[in-house]
Amino acid sequence: MNDQSPNSWESRADAHSFYGFTDLPTIEDRGAVVLTHGKGPYVVDVHGREYLDANSGLWNMVAGFDHPGLTEAAKAQYDRFPGYHAFFGRMADQTVALSEKLVEVSPFDDGKVFYTNSGSEANDTMVKMLWFMHAAEGNPNRRKIITRKNAYHGVTAVSASMTGKPYNSVFGLPLPEFLHLTCPHYWREGRNGESEAEFTKRMATELEDMIAAEGADTIAGFFAEPVMGAGGVIPPSKGYFQAIQPILKKHGIPLISDEVICGFGRTGEVWGCETYNFMPDAIISSKCLTAGYFPMGAVILGPELTNRLQAASEAIEEFPHGFTASGHPVGSAIALKAIDVILNEGLLDNARAMTPLFEEGMARIGEMANIGEVRGKGLMGALEAVQDKATKTPFDGSLSVSERIANTCTDHGLICRPLGQSIVLCPPFIITPGQLDEMFDKLGKALTQVFNDVA
Ligand SMILES: *Cc1c(COP(=O)(O)O)cnc(C)c1O
Repeated sequence: MNDQSPNSWESRADAHSFYGFTDLPTIEDRGAVVLTHGKGPYVVDVHGREYLDANSGLWNMVAGFDHPGLTEAAKAQYDRFPGYHAFFGRMADQTVALSEKLVEVSPFDDGKVFYTNSGSEANDTMVKMLWFMHAAEGNPNRRKIITRKNAYHGVTAVSASMTGKPYNSVFGLPLPEFLHLTCPHYWREGRNGESEAEFTKRMATELEDMIAAEGADTIAGFFAEPVMGAGGVIPPSKGYFQAIQPILKKHGIPLISDEVICGFGRTGEVWGCETYNFMPDAIISSKCLTAGYFPMGAVILGPELTNRLQAASEAIEEFPHGFTASGHPVGSAIALKAIDVILNEGLLDNARAMTPLFEEGMARIGEMANIGEVRGKGLMGALEAVQDKATKTPFDGSLSVSERIANTCTDHGLICRPLGQSIVLCPPFIITPGQLDEMFDKLGKALTQVFNDVA
């Protein structure tokens, strides 16, 4: 429990700060966790308590919270050129260099990059690019965007409309023109007696039927996360992307890979589309792009979309879009360093090396009677709590089981995130075997405690 006396940091947080995506009864009971700094994969609160952050902040702090190379890159660039924009044909040198680097490490032979300040804005930007491009090509009706239920693409009005979560109905979203397919989660969505291959086929048929019903000439694009992140770490069913990509191609529908979480190594390859062996038309990046040390997002266009967007822009002599801080020189310098640290200084190698231990730990916890499914890829995983393992019956929502688990973990000095009825684990890429042991040990204790209370 935190200090809730009138002048505590916790009370001050409550008085004048709004929390996003926060269970307010938990705050009422426990107060906020107010943090001062971090050390490696740990964060430290105002009382000096340390927490192992099993979620890398929000998936992004993959280099930990005190990486000297990243803070040095930031300081040096602040001294050199602390801010500029990317409008009117002007651009910081570091941003030019970052675009070259992003195209080089992308799966594309060639391409161009557009910068934003977040993943939501990058998805928003991509939708506007598609609308603009199709209209310029004489297809102004190609406006509908297809995503999947449980997808998470962000929170702006457009990206929230792409997000396939019921909570957006409180905003009167999705906007018209945003369509959602079934979530390709075989364990939860597969029918009785349906094989995984049959399930994948049904997902592909659903897409074909949707395209036929709506009319291919009304569809602007299809967006997918390689592994759904905030939907509960849901890897696609086997063969999913191989089944849907030809359908999209046949109907001239660009496939956009939202790699905001998967990009830069989370699934074991640099890009999730490499892990799942498909070639998108564009990539959306953010989160690990700067290892969380600067707010930045990027749309990375492959060669075909680059050419088409270039032609659309030339027709009206500009692309009328951009954010004041797009392509920020400090963000660019940090991103250049972060990419180097991840790819060349051992972070991705370590993430790969730790994956078997991570999977073993997850599997061990998965033996508990109240864990229904263990799923994940690379260093991202989820444990789904169930009341009954055999029937996959969830706990009654009023028990707030995953919230309780996360709170009990906090008491044990472990931060992990409740998502629906599951607990998400996505440790930073610097994690050590000893820290993985600590993570599973604390999580196991917390789960035992909560399941004893509710079962
Ligand atoms: C986090 C996330 C976003 C949104 O990024 P923000 O920077 O929070 O706007 C978009 N897509 C995916 C897959 C994400 O995980």
